[in-house]
Amino acid sequence: MYKSSSPKIWRKLKSRYRLLGNKCRICNKKHYPPVQICRKCGSQDLEQYTFKPSAKLISWSTVHAAPEGFEEFVPYTIAIVELEDGERMTTQLADINENKLVHGMKLFPTFRKYYEHGREGIIHYGIKFTQK
Ligand SMILES: [Zn+2]
Repeated sequence: MYKSSSPKIWRKLKSRYRLLGNKCRICNKKHYPPVQICRKCGSQDLEQYTFKPSAKLISWSTVHAAPEGFEEFVPYTIAIVELEDGERMTTQLADINENKLVHGMKLFPTFRKYYEHGREGIIHYGIKFTQK
């Protein structure tokens, strides 16, 4: 299971709690999560950009045999969603039965538990997507 170091998590906190990314001042490419170098043109001239809080469902897959640390969420659905601003991201869906999923359905970000880390049970939170 992938686990970030604590400093890395703290650096990314703002972008985890809102759809906070960045936008290239040269070519206007938007990035979520934020990047240091534009993936389209290579520029480092980027500005903070908050994505609009809605998306549509593009593709999904439901996990029934979870990796360590995610057992409590089974079954859960991992999806590719397209944000209203046009960027696509991989996310987890929350509170939607997989039988109700329809390509193109509208989804909204929601703040949820990601996983518990270590024996201390440090809980990590972040954005998942759900219906309203
Ligand atoms: Zn660019």
